[in-house]
Amino acid sequence: MGANSRIEWTHRTFNPWWGCTKVSPACDHCYAERWAKRTGFDVWGKDASRRFFNDSKWDEPLRWDRAAAKAGERHRVFCGSMCDVMEDAPGLQEIREAKLYPLIEATPFLDWLLLTKRPQNFRRFLPAAWLDRPRPNVVGMTTVESERYLWRADVLLRTPFSWRGLSMEPLLGHVDIGPFIGIKPRKLSSEWHGPTLTRGIDWVIVGGESGHGARPMHPDWVRAIRDQCLEAGVPFFFKQWGEWLPQGQFGTDGDTPTAVNTGARWGVLTMDGEYIAQTTRWMRGPGWYADDGEVYVYRVGKRDAGRLLDGREHLEFPETR
Ligand code: SF4
Repeated sequence: MGANSRIEWTHRTFNPWWGCTKVSPACDHCYAERWAKRTGFDVWGKDASRRFFNDSKWDEPLRWDRAAAKAGERHRVFCGSMCDVMEDAPGLQEIREAKLYPLIEATPFLDWLLLTKRPQNFRRFLPAAWLDRPRPNVVGMTTVESERYLWRADVLLRTPFSWRGLSMEPLLGHVDIGPFIGIKPRKLSSEWHGPTLTRGIDWVIVGGESGHGARPMHPDWVRAIRDQCLEAGVPFFFKQWGEWLPQGQFGTDGDTPTAVNTGARWGVLTMDGEYIAQTTRWMRGPGWYADDGEVYVYRVGKRDAGRLLDGREHLEFPETR
């Protein structure tokens, strides 16, 4: 992993180490764990050691920084596609302090996206000087996959950063982010009763799940976030549907993906995230109406599912400060 990234929302990926421990439902089908196992590294779980890298790997961002400076551009670096950069495990804080933080300081033309499912560790592990004076090339980001994990957005907002982002991938349920982007909530969340009504989230990324065991995403969950971002003036980036494509999202011309006509698995998804397989709904084929709040979903594969939401792409980025 490194060099030019294939992840749509970043120019590069950099991994200070490989390995992690699962913390929430978004981790259930962690692609990084699968990739590590496939390439022969047993680095997952609290008892496994992590995989570390030599100095040549750590020199790569210095070259990226020079290239960005020469081009007169800023380049985004996603830090930790194969780990969680704020994990608390033996040896990791030493690596952060001795290597990662100095590297970030030494690369001012790179915007470092520090994405974590452990935002409560930012205050413990970030340099004190950064908490006093947030660095302009550091983006604090956390994952919110469902309303149950809105507390992570709250913790992020309370941590000093020059700018912040939410990664809502894989999105597993309806989430009302209004109070976290400075607008009123649409409804009272059953999971969140806090007073937050503040601006401070600069970017929201939404995506569906890919790979083995991927769970489908309801279009109304995505629409609600898109509309709230529009209302609040927060850049919204829709990465992709993942493996499953909902009915009504078949592209600009409404063409039905071939897979739908050639035996793709399909079922019904409720607003609460319950997937009801076709075998249970055998009497009602594609073209029949689902009940209120339900939508038919088809496992067409990530490439065919694409990233059109109601016929258009949403690929907004925040202005770098
Ligand atoms: S926190 Fe990220 S890297 Fe760690 S197990 Fe979860 S999804 Fe995988």
